[in-house]
Amino acid sequence: MSDLAPSPLSDAVEDLDAPDAWTPADAEALYHMPAWGEGFFGVNDDGNVCARPDAARDGHIDLAAVVDEVVAGGLPLPAVIRFQDILAARVQALNAAFRQAAEDAEYGGGYTSVYPVKVNQLREVVDEIVEAGRPFGSGIECGSKAELVATLPRLESDDMLCLVNGYKDAAMLRLILTFQRLGRKVLPIVEKASEFEQILKLSDDAGQAPAFGVRVKLAAVAPGPWTKSGGSLSKFGVSLPELVALADRLIEEGRPEALRLLHFHLGSQIGDVAALKHAVREIARVYAGLVRRGLTPEYLDVGGGLGVNYDALPLGAGAGGVDYSVQEYANAVVYAAKEVCDAEGVPEPRLVTENGRAVTAHHSVLVVDVLGATRKPDVADDFELPKGAHPVAGELDALRETAASARGLGELLEVLHDANESREKAHALFQYGYLDLDAAALAERLYWAVCRLIHERVEAAGPEWAPPELDALGDALADQLLCDFSVFQSLMDHWALGQRFPIMPIAGLDQEPTRRARLVDITCDSDGEIAKFVAPEGARRALEVHDLPTGPPDEPYRLGVFLVGAYQDILGDAHNLFGGVSEAHVYLDEDEPSGYYVEETIRGTTVEEMLARVQYFPSDLQARVQTLLREKARAGVVRPKEAQAILADYRAFFPQTTYLDPT
Ligand SMILES: *Cc1c(COP(=O)(O)O)cnc(C)c1O
Repeated sequence: MSDLAPSPLSDAVEDLDAPDAWTPADAEALYHMPAWGEGFFGVNDDGNVCARPDAARDGHIDLAAVVDEVVAGGLPLPAVIRFQDILAARVQALNAAFRQAAEDAEYGGGYTSVYPVKVNQLREVVDEIVEAGRPFGSGIECGSKAELVATLPRLESDDMLCLVNGYKDAAMLRLILTFQRLGRKVLPIVEKASEFEQILKLSDDAGQAPAFGVRVKLAAVAPGPWTKSGGSLSKFGVSLPELVALADRLIEEGRPEALRLLHFHLGSQIGDVAALKHAVREIARVYAGLVRRGLTPEYLDVGGGLGVNYDALPLGAGAGGVDYSVQEYANAVVYAAKEVCDAEGVPEPRLVTENGRAVTAHHSVLVVDVLGATRKPDVADDFELPKGAHPVAGELDALRETAASARGLGELLEVLHDANESREKAHALFQYGYLDLDAAALAERLYWAVCRLIHERVEAAGPEWAPPELDALGDALADQLLCDFSVFQSLMDHWALGQRFPIMPIAGLDQEPTRRARLVDITCDSDGEIAKFVAPEGARRALEVHDLPTGPPDEPYRLGVFLVGAYQDILGDAHNLFGGVSEAHVYLDEDEPSGYYVEETIRGTTVEEMLARVQYFPSDLQARVQTLLREKARAGVVRPKEAQAILADYRAFFPQTTYLDPT
């Protein structure tokens, strides 16, 4: 093979052909922003990530500037930056897609988007979504006792649809019925057959007509990590025989109008639109069958599951990820419902979706400080082996030359094998005392230098295919960036489900990132790392980053983790007592010179708050420190004034957030 570029070692002449200048567009392409960003994110001419929350307005918000501003204002990182306008844009896009689909399909039943609050219950998030949905008559869904208590008082009118999923006890059902009596359009969704009996009884007790929906267990399932939400094994929903019995009972009792809604939910991140069509056809047949029996359901609720393209797949890739547009999703639902209603000759019901992830994911970005970088040990290219070095170091040193002059992938692979062997030899010699600590450390540096040289030559050649061992070198050589956050608190689904999130530096992108890194968090848990990154061709194990200054960074280096607005904020786990992160809520505002304003900032959970969750309180802890100091002062270990200062230092921790201070 002769397609290897000349090595820097064998050929010291600089490549004088100026490479094409690096542009912001190159940075966007490197991090696959066009594929996952839905047009919301880009890189501006300053090399900073910016948000374009509203396609209809051409305002940009410079993310790096927002972070600088809130940090200067005293907000500690890590922080979630919420682009509130993106929430509104997503609600509008969803409704526009359904409007378009209904027009194209001549579907006359109408459409209502409902927001399931479990995806992100933060009040400001829900408020924004409700406000954006108002012109479309959108509704809201809740699925637990606490969510119900928070949601009922916030319904805006008697017309606003409120669905209550999940298991409900009698008290919850009574509260729902009370709000029905007040005129609110609240529908409990029967998740199991016994709830149906309870609703009938409680409605009768209250002297009001029952009104509810039913979640149906369909045969159709959607493949993916959330597949158990649907199908006959799902813990949710009533089976077809149970539904038929329920329908007969309502007809018998002369209250066919009690069943208002039929519902299914296939699970989150539907990967395959075809699976959704199957399910919609199935529920539409169920609907038609019930209409024939004399029931009058008004709504057909196809649940959530509209996917988010975390993996940056190109549309139509069909690779088992999410590669369809919002419009294709809407078309799938509307046309499938239309087809069945036409065939069965039944009235077209109002279609409902409960999409949460697709509405909220894009609006928030987690911004973390990089605290430092660890590199693989190495030696400089002009390193000279000291006289009298151990022969094993000599072997490795010679392999540097061999790597530089190797002609072809086969020879490079042979060099790698030889280096592995020498390294093992060095380990053995060290274990048995034939190699001292300095020599062992030198052997390690030389080994990684050989690996780096091999890798550089493979990269320069850029072959279509390389032996897996050579391919893996890039990952093995990656730096490790220590980042000030907790995977368990902020990216639960990365840890629990291996889900990938788009990650990239938020500034400095006018320079080409030249290094690759894995990210580790500050928890004392080896699972607290990110070693899977978004790429359309499949996950990558290292991320392109800039060369960090060594030592404590003078200039902060910050990474943004994108698409974290759905579920991640809420699932956070207090592993190692790392608490909630700070937040800033940002709005587009063309009248401001910066193009935006920060409406609100919220500091992360304090040390005191986290400790209270596990029953430690400042009074007791401080009293103990005080006792210790008094003892030590008496024994002459510290002076009394010093003791006072120590106590003050200790007390100052309680109002701090739980993360590190990079300064
Ligand atoms: C979780 C859930 C949703 C939201 O699903 P997304 O994938 O976030 O759209 C909708 N409906 C029900 C019943 C749910 O449990």
